[in-house]
Amino acid sequence: MKYPSIAVGALGGTICMTADDAQVGALPRLSAQQLVSAVPGLVDIAEIHAATLLQLPSPSLNFAHVLDSLAWAESMVSAGANGIVLTQGTDTLEETAFLLDLLWTHPQPLVVTGAMRTPLTAGADGPANILAAVACAADSSSCGRGVCVVMNNTIHEARWVRKANSMSVETFESAVMGPAGMVLEGTPQYFRPPSKRYREHFAKPDMSVRVALVETCLGETGEMLNAVAQAGYHGIVISAYGAGHVSHDEAKCIEALAPRLPIVIATRTGSGSTAARTYGFPGSEIDLARRGAYFSGWLAPRKARLLLWLLLATAAPLSACAAAFEFWKRVDSIE
Ligand code: ASP
Repeated sequence: MKYPSIAVGALGGTICMTADDAQVGALPRLSAQQLVSAVPGLVDIAEIHAATLLQLPSPSLNFAHVLDSLAWAESMVSAGANGIVLTQGTDTLEETAFLLDLLWTHPQPLVVTGAMRTPLTAGADGPANILAAVACAADSSSCGRGVCVVMNNTIHEARWVRKANSMSVETFESAVMGPAGMVLEGTPQYFRPPSKRYREHFAKPDMSVRVALVETCLGETGEMLNAVAQAGYHGIVISAYGAGHVSHDEAKCIEALAPRLPIVIATRTGSGSTAARTYGFPGSEIDLARRGAYFSGWLAPRKARLLLWLLLATAAPLSACAAAFEFWKRVDSIE
């Protein structure tokens, strides 16, 4: 029997970390080959090609690493891979997965996974996560779904997933939308068709473009926004109160900055969408829209920052930025 061919690329993270000395702590050290070799039953479901792309803790991943991983995944698909699995640290997984999702144009599944416990810890979750991720990537029902995150046998769409607990194995969630499916006894089961996916063809990004993410908080006056603008950022995403609100002082600051650089308002609540026509106080969504801000709709702040970065780094005109964020205000129709 010919098994599906799955390429597994390892970027680092807890899943590959070992510790010789408790004082020093765990460090990323295991290769992709070592990771896949430690998974019981893997060779019975797929033909694996394993490659160590990086050995980094995920807080040190950057845009270039993600784009290089994307290029590797594309080359694997061109070479005949039926699906791709990337392993990495969970700290930035929700961001890398979404950036990949924005750029992944192939029908073949691209699945990102990691682990919350190091390989030598009791109850290490890495092997089970790799097995479930490969099962997911190898199954034809996963095709055309863009980038998924598989952790703890749960399948999440990259556009909605986030790490919601610092240490728990059950850390990934897709607020409001819920998980896309689960891997049960080695088979992915999807609960619904894929949710609407933002599909745009992006040119090669200019890596010098920088977009800041600023969270508003009690008593903030806009000094932080001005400092960020002065530091030369090309755009700002504000992780704002509630349905997309800031203080009156910050609103004035946004009005002054908006003609110079795009400002996108997202909700800092961790769940739900920004509003468009409910509140009218200074700093509310209606007021900020009049002052020139854009709103990210259902897209969470960290993901809105990645989308804005991609738009600005590919020289998208402001009208395209506005249209791109409009998309995320109506995500109810399914494909
Ligand atoms: N705690 C992290 C992890 O789960 C470390 C990292 O993101 O690299 O892998």
